[in-house]
Amino acid sequence: MGNFTTVNNDGAHNLWEQLYFKGIPHPEGMVGVVLGIESTAHTLSFGMVDMNGKTSPSYSNLFRPEEGGIHPREAADHHCLMASDLLRKATSSEMFLDNKIEAIAFSQGPGLGPCLRIGASIARTLSEVWKVPLIGVNHCIAHIEIGKNQTGCKDPVLLYVSGGNTQVIASSRNKYRVMGETLDIGIGNMLDKFARTQGIPFPGGPEIEILAKKYELNKDINENFINLPYGVQGMDMGFSGMLTAAERRIDAGDSLESVCWSLQEHAFASCIEVAERAMAHTGKNELLLGGGVACNTRIREMAKIMCEERGATAYWPEKQFCIDNGTMIAELGRLLHNVGYNTKLSDSAINPMLRTDHTEIIWD
Ligand code: AMP
Ligand code: MG
Repeated sequence: MGNFTTVNNDGAHNLWEQLYFKGIPHPEGMVGVVLGIESTAHTLSFGMVDMNGKTSPSYSNLFRPEEGGIHPREAADHHCLMASDLLRKATSSEMFLDNKIEAIAFSQGPGLGPCLRIGASIARTLSEVWKVPLIGVNHCIAHIEIGKNQTGCKDPVLLYVSGGNTQVIASSRNKYRVMGETLDIGIGNMLDKFARTQGIPFPGGPEIEILAKKYELNKDINENFINLPYGVQGMDMGFSGMLTAAERRIDAGDSLESVCWSLQEHAFASCIEVAERAMAHTGKNELLLGGGVACNTRIREMAKIMCEERGATAYWPEKQFCIDNGTMIAELGRLLHNVGYNTKLSDSAINPMLRTDHTEIIWD
């Protein structure tokens, strides 16, 4: 039971009691399944992938703060409270009941320490109780691998646009290399922060998309669109300048719809520009979108237009696999399990600062 002491609040203790003392069935079906646990930030999620690569939906719950941003400790408490209910749902599903558990995968990093610790603790517990290997995975790379699983693309440039991360990634010599990234805040974080100043609760991205669409439908083509600072520097991006400028435009009396539209156009164009340059540099002809902001229809449209113009193809998984989800963790866990990789208990500490290019690709 010692490995569970990394979490020291009541929620985790109750969870341990539920898992260990009451027990959860460990069925012995024909096909092996990897269970994945995602807990890097706002979402706790369980999902499964069978050894043939067939995915289950994820069982997820999103932490929505009543006010302000995401406090890591509060999000971790949310994950503790939600864990047994979500796990019960996942372990009542057809895929779980019809198959046998091969391994438990969890997000080892990057992410918020207190949140990561909850997922890691649940994973260690299940791996002990079910006597199956434990596999710590890199969350950013899981976004790539679930995208490849779902869309069939082979060797893409990934535009990873989420709450905390904004990176343009491409594989080269056994690692996923970061070709460019945000120099300040993540693109989703920028959208959420702007939304919060306008009284729109977390997550603000989807509401900004609705407001931008309203403006798009009604805009006058002769109108002067709002210019915001465009934050591309070489292969890197920046979003905090455009956030401040957008807030100022609201203070100056511009409509919320028009500012949301401009914010999307500037932010998405900067990501697509860097992604295009990465494709040109690497010679790759597939672009894969991943991360929660990849749910947005406008960034998808921009990706498609850019790719068509250069004879390439843009891909994105369905929304449930763009946002953080346990199934993507299970998918990377499956690939690692296939090559015999697992994580010893003594190596299972979380790594909040884990980089995309720290992980060697040993599964392709
Ligand atoms: P993730 O961290 O990958 O789970 O993504 C969460 C982020 O995606 C949050 O910042 C959301 O505001 C953002 N997001 C989700 N849906 C949309 C959307 N339709 N348009 C823009 N951003 C979105
Ligand atoms: Mg993510």
